[in-house]
Amino acid sequence: MTVTRPIIAMPDAQTVTEIRHWTDRLFSFRVTRPRSLRFRSGEFVMLGLMGDNGKPLLRAYSIASPSWDEELEFYSIKVPDGPLTSRLQHIQPGNQIVLRPKPVGTLVLDALLPGRRLWFFATGTGVAPFASLVRDPDTYERYDQVILTHTCRHADDLGYSRDLVAATMDDPLVGEQAQAQLSYFPTTTADESAQMGRITNLLRSGEVFQALDVPPIDPVSDRAMVCGSIALNTDMKEILEGFGLREGSNSKPAEYVVEKAFVD
Ligand SMILES: Cc1cc2nc3c(=O)[nH]c(=O)nc-3n(C[C@H](O)[C@H](O)[C@H](O)COP(=O)(O)OP(=O)(O)OC[C@H]3O[C@@H](n4cnc5c(N)ncnc54)[C@H](O)[C@@H]3O)c2cc1C
Repeated sequence: MTVTRPIIAMPDAQTVTEIRHWTDRLFSFRVTRPRSLRFRSGEFVMLGLMGDNGKPLLRAYSIASPSWDEELEFYSIKVPDGPLTSRLQHIQPGNQIVLRPKPVGTLVLDALLPGRRLWFFATGTGVAPFASLVRDPDTYERYDQVILTHTCRHADDLGYSRDLVAATMDDPLVGEQAQAQLSYFPTTTADESAQMGRITNLLRSGEVFQALDVPPIDPVSDRAMVCGSIALNTDMKEILEGFGLREGSNSKPAEYVVEKAFVD
């Protein structure tokens, strides 16, 4: 009997199964999922590529697929001179990436107290953890209404979230719940679009509530998750606390949670 040697030589290697380039600055990819990997929708892991020095170059990445998915999906920026993404953007199906199977993060349903309405506030690739959560049946079981807001400079940058929402509405597992409970509120800050402006300004002016026909954020009924730049997160904390919400964590659930989409 011939014994075949495993092709995977590096520890924590996973195989790329699919890649989609959304714009010249954004792409998503899917990889095989380690059998032992259990995670809560909204968490992030460290992933990357082997460097020429034989050491892995790793960065934090939110898992964009839901916890029930057989594969893992990620949504990535392409930083032109970025140590990792200048290379990662060229991966092809069959290539291997390094993935440390130790998921962590605060954008999890367990870090929020029960409520009626759940808001996801994302800018740019900050939508990735919410791509996981909007496909998780638990989200719809815990909340009557789920609102995904996604703000980008350009209209093209909204392609991933637009397709995500459309696919979620048709999904055999969560489609029916999503059709009844999920609202999508995309906005652009540079390009002309149906809804323009920073989400922070639209919350301060109340335009979001009017457009979605919902009452203003209230600490009794509303819960929120925020994922964006440090500037967005700081502004959103002030806005949400102005509405009376308190920041929660895994160990002390409250009304809102925040995570950086990247380190400036
Ligand atoms: C908790 C956490 C979760 C993250 N999840 C994701 C994710 O799901 N998808 C993703 O693309 N990135 C994510 N990031 C950022 C990611 O870790 C890397 O920074 C990114 O992949 C770029 O790596 P790099 O080595 O090419 O450049 P880096 O040296 O890491 O970054 C160079 C510069 O590019 C800018 N930048 C980095 N990432 C972004 C971004 N996502 N959006 C806009 N500007 C950015 C920053 O100004 C940064 O200083 C996350 C970061 C954190 C802290």
